Amino acid sequence: MKSANPFLIVGQGLAGTILAHHFLEAGIPFIIWDSPITHFNSSQAAGGIFNPVTGRKLEQTWLADELFPYLFDFYPRLEKTLATRFFFPMPLFRPFANEEMKNWLEERKDQIHHDYLRWEEEGVWVEQAGWVDVAALLQASRNYFVSKDLLVESEYIGNQAIFCEGFHGQQNPLWSCLPFLPAKGELMEISSMEPSEDYILNKNGFILPLGSRHFKVGATYGWKEFTNETTPEALEELSKKLSLMGCSSFELIQQKTGIRPATQDRRPFVGFHSQVKAGIFNGFGSKGVSLTPYFAKQWTDEILVKSTVHPDASIRRFYHLFSV
Ligand SMILES: Cc1cc2nc3c(=O)[nH]c(=O)nc-3n(C[C@H](O)[C@H](O)[C@H](O)COP(=O)(O)OP(=O)(O)OC[C@H]3O[C@@H](n4cnc5c(N)ncnc54)[C@H](O)[C@@H]3O)c2cc1C
Repeated sequence: MKSANPFLIVGQGLAGTILAHHFLEAGIPFIIWDSPITHFNSSQAAGGIFNPVTGRKLEQTWLADELFPYLFDFYPRLEKTLATRFFFPMPLFRPFANEEMKNWLEERKDQIHHDYLRWEEEGVWVEQAGWVDVAALLQASRNYFVSKDLLVESEYIGNQAIFCEGFHGQQNPLWSCLPFLPAKGELMEISSMEPSEDYILNKNGFILPLGSRHFKVGATYGWKEFTNETTPEALEELSKKLSLMGCSSFELIQQKTGIRPATQDRRPFVGFHSQVKAGIFNGFGSKGVSLTPYFAKQWTDEILVKSTVHPDASIRRFYHLFSV
């Protein structure tokens, strides 16, 4: 799908926003259509954390050695363009769950061979972690796109566009055959005198310091219902997580919810449809902050015929589903 006409990008969540900035840098014309009134925006609820280490076995996340250098270059550059601060590198601490877990991990220390960890008696510090204030990034970008006449606030009904619709993508007939596996998430913002403001604490949940003794606490995962309503059950679960992380006294400021556009193979959907003049940039699951810059760059380069999108992320892996 190559055209002299501007691309139409549907959605100004994290995915559409980051893709649009890459198009702008590359001189690829576009216009964004976004409709948060008819289609809720999940990026507003994101914790915003980027973290190159995952799971109980402290493994490196997929493509960490490519994603992390790129995001450390890209976000500060975008901060300058938008004259807004939203990128906050910050150490992340993962305490050992218990003595048994500590021994189990220490026995495997030689196999956990990557550079992002610093071991201590009580747990491990993760380097190159931090968080992006996604709401601030989206608002500054929106103002920027509006000032350049690049954004229309309206629902898009049609099928000749690049769709960055997040969770709503699976209701779009063009893409409903794709193996989405959405996960609802809730988090709370609190104020408390108890947690540390110097690092992100990650222990079966997270406490993320926002400054002025405000914190984000997250997050829940649910696969049963997909409304954008917050629930009392999630509030209870989050309060328990907080207590297990050593914080019992807090004031709730707000509770937020969104739906992670995750996929069955845990890889994004990036590229053009095989039959229709349409594209997709979606499926970033719980890692939108670290995945979208790298794949926006890869897709932009593919459109400019400089390189191709990683085969595990390219939508080409599902072309057999489109040709019925
Ligand atoms: C509780 C929670 C915590 C999270 N924490 C983290 C985290 O710590 N780190 C991390 O990396 N990720 C995190 N995530 C995941 C992250 O939020 C997502 O990966 C990311 O926000 C997905 O962005 P998106 O642009 O694909 O979707 P969205 O943000 O949902 O954006 C889609 C946009 O498209 C618009 N739209 C859709 N259809 C149409 C249409 N037809 N016409 C016009 N507009 C349309 C919507 O209005 C919306 O603005 C979290 C998610 C949740 C829910």
